[in-house]
Amino acid sequence: MNIPQDTILKIREKFPILNRKVFNRKLVYLDNAATSQTPRQVVEAIDNMYFHTKANVHRGVHTLSQEATDMQEQTRRHIKDYINAESIEEIVFTRGTTEAINLVTSSFGEAFLHDGDEIILTVMEHHANIVPWQLLQKKINIKINVVPINSRGELDLDVYRSLFNSHTRLVSFTHVSNVLGTINPAKEIIKIAHEHGVKAMVDGAQGAPHLKVDVRELDADFYVFSSHKMYGPTGVGVLYGKRDLLEQMPPYQGGGEMIAHVSFEGTTFADLPFKFEAGTPDFVDIAAFNSALDFIEDTGMDIIAGQEHILLEHTTERLVNEIPGIRIFGTAPNKSGVISFLLENAHHYDTGMLLDKLGIAVRTGHHCAQPLMTALGIEGTVRASFAVYNTLDEADAFVDALKRVNQILS
Ligand code: PMP
Repeated sequence: MNIPQDTILKIREKFPILNRKVFNRKLVYLDNAATSQTPRQVVEAIDNMYFHTKANVHRGVHTLSQEATDMQEQTRRHIKDYINAESIEEIVFTRGTTEAINLVTSSFGEAFLHDGDEIILTVMEHHANIVPWQLLQKKINIKINVVPINSRGELDLDVYRSLFNSHTRLVSFTHVSNVLGTINPAKEIIKIAHEHGVKAMVDGAQGAPHLKVDVRELDADFYVFSSHKMYGPTGVGVLYGKRDLLEQMPPYQGGGEMIAHVSFEGTTFADLPFKFEAGTPDFVDIAAFNSALDFIEDTGMDIIAGQEHILLEHTTERLVNEIPGIRIFGTAPNKSGVISFLLENAHHYDTGMLLDKLGIAVRTGHHCAQPLMTALGIEGTVRASFAVYNTLDEADAFVDALKRVNQILS
């Protein structure tokens, strides 16, 4: 795909933060897998709501409350269309991917899991898709099976197939690895689960920002993601769940909004999706998430994914050719714009710190994926991750800076 640089420069203009300096150098922001930057239109939507329309949602007959409710519910409709869900009842707002997964572990766990049951995770999961299951293990004696990876960082589907037995109840896996960049064959993984009568949850934290997601095409039972990685505000996440499943699941938290009627003798719960939305939601940020989805759609997922792919290929080629001894973790052919690496003779922290001094923002450490680090036999990596507003010049600035850092540290 050929994307004119002018197109990307126009997109960049929407992100004022990209003009700032760090250590008196032009910022090159390559930590997009942790959180992406936010375009002006999203910040203006937040401003606009605080200045004109702030009122609690679903509670009032007055104009502001109704307007605020409409704005929140418009985002829900937008998300439904964005991921091609069947109905808005299937779209539950949470604080993020992490809370959405905790909701499923807790509520699906209560409804469907019993002592002796088994679930399947993968070795490349983020801690957000590991630890909640371990917390559940303290209440229910479930077994966690783990799908390994091959040397390119792809899931071993033969082992995956072999992990099913009559006790298996759920498969939960990441759409895209936040460390390796591997794009997992989600449709196939889900199909295999369904052939065994097993439900499947997709951690879409790194999927929804970079791929066209169609939950019906995937046939996912649950799909979860965070706004802040999708050019949107912090504090907002989404749980998509198939309606019949959500209907069978008990509430996750109790409070306002999620009830039909309360008395001290007993309480009945609200219909979907409100059954899972106790308390005042982050309605300002939810409303503003709508503008982030507008940004993604106006830009076009083909341009977003296309530019990220161009950056990935260009940068990887230069790193491999120009930095002797560099180790890149994750070399799957089907890969998203994430490059995790280690310089031959340097600790990842030192590499990251020196890059920062040169204006390059990358992430270092275990990336909340310690089991994956253990499987790779390392403690951490340096990770550069791209978004649509990154340019080839920035990719070059990163590689040039890394060459300098490599000389200093070796
Ligand atoms: N899963 C993956 C694959 C992620 O990359 C992240 C964020 N790093 C999460 C889950 C957690 O997302 P959040 O912190 O927005 O809840």
